[in-house]
Amino acid sequence: RAKEEGRNRVQFFLEQMQHNADHRQQIEESLRQAIENDLLYICYQPLVRGNGKIVGAEALVRWSDGEKGLVNPASFIPIAEMTDLICCLGQWVLTEVCQQMATWEKQGKKLVVSVNISPREFEQNDFVEKVQEIILNSGVRAEYLVFELTEGVLLNNIEAVRIKMQRLAKLGIRFALDDFGTGYSSLQYLKQLPLNTLKIDQSFVQDITTDSNDAAIVSTIIAMARTLGIDVVAEGVEKQEELDFLEHWGCQLFQGYYFSRAMKAKRMGSLIPSAGKEQLRETQIIPFKK
Ligand code: C2E
Ligand code: MG
Ligand code: MG
Ligand code: MG
Repeated sequence: RAKEEGRNRVQFFLEQMQHNADHRQQIEESLRQAIENDLLYICYQPLVRGNGKIVGAEALVRWSDGEKGLVNPASFIPIAEMTDLICCLGQWVLTEVCQQMATWEKQGKKLVVSVNISPREFEQNDFVEKVQEIILNSGVRAEYLVFELTEGVLLNNIEAVRIKMQRLAKLGIRFALDDFGTGYSSLQYLKQLPLNTLKIDQSFVQDITTDSNDAAIVSTIIAMARTLGIDVVAEGVEKQEELDFLEHWGCQLFQGYYFSRAMKAKRMGSLIPSAGKEQLRETQIIPFKK
């Protein structure tokens, strides 16, 4: 399948890269320059309800390199994560997102935006201070920000992680646990940490209609999240049958190509209802029906 092939190619690319320090340094250097010269940009993928109503968006970084064309984050984020470069990148992303939110707000448009935070970024001693400064400078309300953490963050001293999350939560930031099911998830975390949302990894979603194990895993995750009072988002929803299955088991929030791909800020902005118009118009991405 094309999708699998694509993933294998990325995997191959990554392995090559990891064995090729020179090439890695090259990528690192051009990424560093891209950050400095503002050659990155953010795309936004809507987070929707089953009827297509937009309830938020995830910020996803894009790098369009003159020579290489559009570089996939799956190929440069892992490289950035090997060094502190990911911290520069993360700072750039959060600043950019907050500025965009401030621009939207001036147009009377408010949108909850999720930002991906790598373990290494989160681990910085001054992470909370850095975040606070970016938010203050932009003038946006932290209540409109969600930080997506992966299970990698939780491998460290859980108590330290919890304290840091609480400090950020005090600012107003909420948390989602991303790619749930792929890491070393322990149900303990879900109880101990101030998590608002679980995002079921797309690798489970993509096989729910054909693989009974994945179907069982997904329905169990949904039930568990609901029992704990945590919102659950299904990632990578591409088909009506997947949506039907997920809704049947009680999942109410979705992200995926079935509804929309990530889009540039301008287009995303045009889909956010302005304040006051809210009662008149609910912006919806109508799922494509066969
Ligand atoms: P993620 O956080 O799990 O983001 C979801 C990824 O799934 C995105 O890929 C999105 O475009 C893709 N996706 C959404 N719906 C579908 C679908 O229906 N089918 C398929 N096949 N894919 C779908 P993207 O943008 O390539 O990002 C890949 C990963 O790179 C992200 O996974 C995240 O881990 C990382 N990433 C992206 N932007 C950032 C960033 O600003 N900072 C950090 N630290 N990581 C980032
Ligand atoms: Mg994410
Ligand atoms: Mg994910
Ligand atoms: Mg991911």
